[in-house]
Amino acid sequence: MSADKIPVLVIEDEAPIRCFLRAYLESRDFKLIEAESGEEGLGLAASHQPALILLDLGLPGMDGLEVIRRIREWTATPILVLSARGKEQDKIDALDAGADDYLIKPFGVGELSARMRVALRHAVQNGGGLAPDPVFRCGELVVDLPARRVRMAGQEVRLTPIEFKLLAFLVRHAGKVVTHRQLLKEVWGSAREDQSHYPRIYVHQLRHKIEPDPARPRFLRTETGIGYRLEEGEAV
Ligand code: CA
Repeated sequence: MSADKIPVLVIEDEAPIRCFLRAYLESRDFKLIEAESGEEGLGLAASHQPALILLDLGLPGMDGLEVIRRIREWTATPILVLSARGKEQDKIDALDAGADDYLIKPFGVGELSARMRVALRHAVQNGGGLAPDPVFRCGELVVDLPARRVRMAGQEVRLTPIEFKLLAFLVRHAGKVVTHRQLLKEVWGSAREDQSHYPRIYVHQLRHKIEPDPARPRFLRTETGIGYRLEEGEAV
């Protein structure tokens, strides 16, 4: 095994899932570090400093949420949560606690590698001094952040200041899910429950301006029960 493989820590008590991850990741440019419990995972996160952490939420002993909080006390290493379908609140709590994204079990290698690529790229941008591309392109949608200009199929799109702030936040997190609470906090400066309708109203408005068919969004997708995800931009 070459020394320059990217270290990935998996914290998962189910051996078949660790086995699946090991087979896939070790055939790519990754080296897998395995933990069966949260306590063991925290120790390995500190001693091995992985580039990415794959974390099961349902663990014996310390649960996944507590693991996220403990890891976030000292590192911004991206965390992808492995979650059972239908547990929306668990996913929201994990994202609000500092996880970067989630994968629903059972997941395929295509989804796994897409989520890992986005998480690793955001980590490089945030920690490695690599500025995100100031001009976001996805299909016919172009968002020029410094110029505060948006174009759709070559046409100028006029956004209100709040609509632009919302879109700019989504662009900075393109490819990743963002929760309703994160949007409230970052765009409106408040995570108050009584304003939870704001993101929905403004996403609706935004879709009518940037989506060719707002009823079937191509760019700004709904993550049911969780929040929204803007499609990944294209590398230029
Ligand atoms: Ca489990």
